[in-house]
Amino acid sequence: MFVFNDTKIAFADKSDAELRKAYWMFKLIEQPTLTKIGTSILNFSVHNNIPFAGDVVKYTLFAQFCGGETREESMKVVKKMFKHHVGSIFDYSIEGKEEEAVFDKTLQEIKENIKFAEGNPAIPFVVFKPTGFGRIDLYAEVGSGKELTTSEKEEWSRIVNRFDEVCKMAFERNVVIMIDAEETWMQDAADELIFEMMKKYNQQKAVVWNTIQMYRTKRLEYLEKDLKRAQENNFFLGYKFVRGAYMEKERNRAAEMHYEDPIQPTKEATDNNYNAAIDFVLNHLDRVSAFFGTHNEKSTELVMDKMKERGLENDNPHLFFGQLYGMSDNITYVLGEKNYNVSKYLPYGPVKDVVPYLTRRAQENTSVAGQTGRELGLISKELKRRKSENN
Ligand SMILES: Cc1cc2nc3c(=O)[nH]c(=O)nc-3n(C[C@H](O)[C@H](O)[C@H](O)COP(=O)(O)OP(=O)(O)OC[C@H]3O[C@@H](n4cnc5c(N)ncnc54)[C@H](O)[C@@H]3O)c2cc1C
Repeated sequence: MFVFNDTKIAFADKSDAELRKAYWMFKLIEQPTLTKIGTSILNFSVHNNIPFAGDVVKYTLFAQFCGGETREESMKVVKKMFKHHVGSIFDYSIEGKEEEAVFDKTLQEIKENIKFAEGNPAIPFVVFKPTGFGRIDLYAEVGSGKELTTSEKEEWSRIVNRFDEVCKMAFERNVVIMIDAEETWMQDAADELIFEMMKKYNQQKAVVWNTIQMYRTKRLEYLEKDLKRAQENNFFLGYKFVRGAYMEKERNRAAEMHYEDPIQPTKEATDNNYNAAIDFVLNHLDRVSAFFGTHNEKSTELVMDKMKERGLENDNPHLFFGQLYGMSDNITYVLGEKNYNVSKYLPYGPVKDVVPYLTRRAQENTSVAGQTGRELGLISKELKRRKSENN
């Protein structure tokens, strides 16, 4: 799209050396076989403390996709981006650990993030993943309506308390808290819990936000149901809209376990569903706020066009855009320059612990059609532009 082609704006923050490094990294990621072998070696080396493995990750993938090893270290990136009217959303990216002590540590981390975000326009949202607070299998059991054992009931009430603790704190400190969406088989329980939090804390404005994956079928019906419940109980709704990150896993599980595929049949159907969500939001702006989390230029431009059609200001307080740090700067920085509300998810954490996040990013960039090619094209365009400017 023409509007997102301004590489001077997109890479205003990046030095020539940083751009060249990013170029070679995306070039490597572009090779599926290399990425597959590379990520396995990486996981093994970092977890077995093979000398220099951590350093290699730190100066390559980590530098491209993460803010730092701690929140404090990431503040340099936060400040740099905010100069361009781009907000930061700290993403504590430790995944796949299922111990009570780890859930409690995550809870503390999210509470610290809320304190950091309070009164700070550079950090407009705080996020967490439901599985950061509890086991995925327990969410699945609760969602299925199965009778829980006494110890499972206690475990579930600890999850509910963790949700309540962060949502209450966000409410008291006037910080917006957004909850990521994960696999469909755990999402029903998360949705119900988030609905309860919205009902409790969104009486004056949308403080608690859910995430809706539009690659799923029947999500528009879910939105209509939520809207009806919000109208009846008189509270506000906030949603992050994404397409969805677990397509292959979802399709494989549905096929293996012989239930109906919960994902839209084609990319086009997902795109149409995403567009329908945009209309849903704009038709209900009196009650609904939205964050469009996407690297899709067409979707982003569609929201911009529809806002214009309706005479809405670019920085309408109910409408937000977001991309992941290290990707699609051409969208983020152009939106920032035009005064839209835009932020980046900024993952942080010890190098060793964010390796699963980084390998997913590498794999996603290999598999999402066109994304890496687009990044490479934009980087080389900017390097050429700088060279001709210097001549
Ligand atoms: C700020 C931000 C926050 C995010 N938070 C979450 C989150 O909480 N939960 C989550 O699941 N994901 C999340 N994501 C990831 C997101 O769901 C997508 O995986 C990713 O952004 C790619 O989609 P896209 O809209 O950017 O771009 P596109 O490249 O236009 O779309 C790719 C997506 O389309 C869908 N798709 C591709 N092929 C098909 C097909 N054959 N049939 C049906 N659908 C297809 C898939 O969802 C795929 O990821 C987030 C992304 C961002 C930028």
